[in-house]
Amino acid sequence: MITKDKVLQWISALQSAYSENKAYLTQLDSAIGDADHGINMDRGFTTVKVDLEKTLPQDIGAILKTVAMTLIRTVGGASGPLYGTFFLRASTICPSKTEIGAAEVVQIFEAGLEGIIQRGKARLEDKTMVDALTPAVNAMKQALQQGNDLGTILQKGADAAEQGMKATIPLQARKGRASYLGERSIGHQDPGATSAYFLVKTAADTLG
Ligand code: ADP
Ligand code: MG
Ligand code: MG
Repeated sequence: MITKDKVLQWISALQSAYSENKAYLTQLDSAIGDADHGINMDRGFTTVKVDLEKTLPQDIGAILKTVAMTLIRTVGGASGPLYGTFFLRASTICPSKTEIGAAEVVQIFEAGLEGIIQRGKARLEDKTMVDALTPAVNAMKQALQQGNDLGTILQKGADAAEQGMKATIPLQARKGRASYLGERSIGHQDPGATSAYFLVKTAADTLG
């Protein structure tokens, strides 16, 4: 079972990942965007850390909801409302629960991705975060169905997210700022697909 403390460890690992990769994500965004993605994500998750320490949410749903509200308030840009929606939808999977199982962890990612798609209207291969999260969710659902343990499920998800992230390089962007560049967006890895990979990778590292 995944406890509330484990979920807090995941969010903390995510904060560290965005802090350590702030320059990297910003550099990716400087090629096809406005050079702020690393700054946005680091600012958001640094505030998340402060807010979680202040509010001490009582259950997993409340933790995920706090993350959502803080991201919506502090991240800005395209990614703020999108990741905010991810965590808001995720929070509805486990209201008032202090422990969850593998099926619910997979549902968190599935519901979160659905929220991002509904909000941002991106399709597969539009060169966005959806291109990392969709293969990750598919891989996790399949691994769950095959009866794997959560560690294996999340590792397969992280591997699929990494592949999806790299597969954004040859794509032409059709959503967000990068789409303004037309064909000039080809040949660069999408910053949001990269931050989305960290979302799954840190889950594999902490929850598996
Ligand atoms: P902004 O582009 O407003 O500066 P960020 O730089 O923080 O915001 O985030 C850019 C990332 O947001 C992109 O790399 C892309 O992955 C993602 N993105 C942009 N628009 C959409 C959308 N409609 N749906 C899904 N993801 C999107
Ligand atoms: Mg940007
Ligand atoms: Mg911006």
